[in-house]
Amino acid sequence: MNYNIAVIRGDGIGPEIVTEAVRALDAAAKRFGFSLTYRDVPMGGCAIDEFGTPLPKDTVSVCKDSDAVLLGAVGGPKWETLPGHLRPEAGLLGIRAALGLYANLRPAVLFDPLRDACPLKPEIVSGGLDILMVRELTGGIYFGERGRSTGERGEEAYDTERYSTFEIERIGRIGFESARKRSKKLTSVDKANVLESSRLWRETMHRLAKEYPDVACDDMLVDNAAMQLVRNPARFDVVVTSNLFGDILSDEASMITGSIGMLPSASLGGGTLGLYEPIHGSAPDIAGTDAANPLATILSAAMLLRYSLNQPQAADAIDRAVAKALDEGYRTADIAAGRRAIGTREMGKIVCRLIETT
Ligand code: NAD
Repeated sequence: MNYNIAVIRGDGIGPEIVTEAVRALDAAAKRFGFSLTYRDVPMGGCAIDEFGTPLPKDTVSVCKDSDAVLLGAVGGPKWETLPGHLRPEAGLLGIRAALGLYANLRPAVLFDPLRDACPLKPEIVSGGLDILMVRELTGGIYFGERGRSTGERGEEAYDTERYSTFEIERIGRIGFESARKRSKKLTSVDKANVLESSRLWRETMHRLAKEYPDVACDDMLVDNAAMQLVRNPARFDVVVTSNLFGDILSDEASMITGSIGMLPSASLGGGTLGLYEPIHGSAPDIAGTDAANPLATILSAAMLLRYSLNQPQAADAIDRAVAKALDEGYRTADIAAGRRAIGTREMGKIVCRLIETT
């Protein structure tokens, strides 16, 4: 079995962390008997420098023809003064739109050896923290009608939250399917006591729940969800929610784990093609110094194996290897907390060794 992977290394630490994630993918492929063919494609600042655009057409077509896309990060001070449509971030939005990626999956996992990095009291996270946030990515208030006008009291502005049953159903299904692959527990977050769009969200989720009798599904208002995340995060497993609520709650959940260099993400659409990237940026302050933590990108590669290539054993092997590396005390500078820190390459090598043996 051979799979085609489009690789966007991007800017800043992007090339360094992607190199380690590709090594981890190769180690997992070797162990589980499949092969991977990579095609490097430019996006972001490096594409602006070479082609005058953050997202060359060829990049889009190679990504569309691939089984999955692995991305490092894009952006940096060099391109910050360019107009919006020419900035590296326009490449990110453009590729998500071109691939029809409407679901963003962000696991927030507190690794046991990194408990000290968690800003919550130890007794609150004693039950552990392993949440999968499923956020709708292409609808809702970020894409609704907006404008400005002058009212009786002066200038006014408005944004519109609009969701169709179709959009809610398709993200809802990702939530239910993800729950099926985990502990079969799903929380749907809305604001149905106030918002009409949320009432449609809730009705649709209830209807969908009948198709997934094996998944225990409950509703929670977004204000309560924000509280419960810091009061009793262990009560959550998979959370599905709208674009706006997901944006806020997934950042809150990430913060609880304490380390930006550890958190992967997946963006999925209708088929199996997905885009996998760490949640952090291109960290220009440490680019080229072998100081970046490659684990978020390596864990993103594990998500790629799980969601796009349907290679769950290979994905598990990477997850286990990362956990073991931390258990054995290996730390990059961002998570060292006073211990001896190792570099990006060494961490990548250790994880590869553990993928082969753990
Ligand atoms: P950032 O996430 O790049 O960095 C924030 C801080 O975290 C920095 O101190 C950095 O050194 C550190 N950090 C981030 N990732 C790390 C890692 N893997 N290992 C160790 N330390 C790490 O955020 P920023 O500084 O606000 O943004 C820098 C650039 O990245 C900007 O141009 C921004 O637009 C871009 N950005 C890109 C993406 C993306 O490509 N998806 C996301 C966010 C920001």
